[in-house]
Amino acid sequence: MRIGFGYDVHRLVEDRPLILGGVQIPHEVGPAGHSDADVLLHAVADALLGAAALGDLGAYFPDTEAEWEGADSQVLLQQVTQRVGDHGYAPHNVDATVLLERPTLRPHVDDMRANIAGPLSLDRGRVSVKATTTEGLGLVGREDGVAAQAICTIRTT
Ligand code: MG
Repeated sequence: MRIGFGYDVHRLVEDRPLILGGVQIPHEVGPAGHSDADVLLHAVADALLGAAALGDLGAYFPDTEAEWEGADSQVLLQQVTQRVGDHGYAPHNVDATVLLERPTLRPHVDDMRANIAGPLSLDRGRVSVKATTTEGLGLVGREDGVAAQAICTIRTT
C-alpha cells in the first residue's frame, strides 16, 4: 500500500463554466485553465501519480499542447489511472476536499464521487468528496480562486 497527495488551485474568471468533479455547476464564474480546469480531478490525479512516484499531471498533459486544450479531466484521470496501472498499482481509496466560497457544493457531491470512482474503477464507497469554504479568508474567501486537496492510496495489483 502506498499513499499520495495532490493539491490544485485555479483562478476564477468570467465566461468559464464551473466544472468540479466532472459536474457543471451553474455559477457566474469558473476556473481559468488550459483543460476544463477541474481542480478536484486534477488534485485526485496528482495524488494518484504521487502515490506511485510518477511525477505530476503537468508533466503528462502540458498546458502548452493544443491536444489538451479544453480537455475533459475525467479522460486525464482515466489515463493517469492507466499509467499507474502500467506500473503495477491500482487505486484503493480517495479522500478529497474542495475549497470554494460559493455556491454550496453539497447537492453535487454524490455525482462528483461517481465521476471519480468511474475513471479509477472503484466503488463509490471508496471515494470521499467534501467541501468547505474558508469563511471569507484568503484567495478562496475573496472568490478569486477555487482549490482542492486529495489523498489516495494505491495497492499492488
Ligand atoms: Mg489544474
